[in-house]
Amino acid sequence: MTDEGSGLEALRSRIADAAWRYGRSPGAISLLAASKTRSVSEILRLAAQGQRLFGENYLQEALPKLRTLTGYLLEWHFIGAIQSNKAAEIASGFSWVHSLDRQKVAARLNDYRLPHLTALNVCIQVNLSAEPTKSGASLSDLPGLAKAVSQYPCLRLRGLMALPAPCGDFSQQRQSFRELAQAFHELRAAGLDLDTLSIGTSEDFEAAIAEGATLIRIGAALFGARPPKTPG
Ligand SMILES: *Cc1c(COP(=O)(O)O)cnc(C)c1O
Repeated sequence: MTDEGSGLEALRSRIADAAWRYGRSPGAISLLAASKTRSVSEILRLAAQGQRLFGENYLQEALPKLRTLTGYLLEWHFIGAIQSNKAAEIASGFSWVHSLDRQKVAARLNDYRLPHLTALNVCIQVNLSAEPTKSGASLSDLPGLAKAVSQYPCLRLRGLMALPAPCGDFSQQRQSFRELAQAFHELRAAGLDLDTLSIGTSEDFEAAIAEGATLIRIGAALFGARPPKTPG
């Protein structure tokens, strides 16, 4: 693609197509630009086209970007693994955290959220495939954790997030998202006021939309493929 605008335009029309195909309203699906490894100028190019939600994974990389882009009215979401000693900077710099997976981190985010800010929006990340190397709470720990997180005054529990292992098969993608959607509905039935199902990347957002995604997190399909990590 030569036109810088075509990434966002093309993606928006794919989102709308998928939404109509599965009986969803395109307006009910928010687009988060996953901007890890992307420069400030790449972010500004998307912002100039109306993209407002951005997600970062690595605090050390994110903080200078957030500082540089203060004043652009972008909404910053933290979507990476959380080290509890980084909770203070995450709680003060971001509007959302999608990757909360244990109560200790919830307690810290709550303690460090500055009182003049609105509550920090949080999603609990669930490890659907129970892969030991992946972050995320297990489905069996989820009800207890969700209830505990919902009690913190400076946090607002919005929903659930998952990042299933990449899989090229559409029906298998749907199957794992459906498990999360089921857990989401059970928590709502139990009285938690949740509105966010944060699922879907460049590889599987159409399956996520089919299963009720309200927020999709897209990197490569917006910015182009990430350069491979160089060793050392
Ligand atoms: C990088 C990332 C994405 C986006 O992945 P792409 O394949 O580039 O669309 C989504 N969610 C999380 C948590 C990520 O780290």
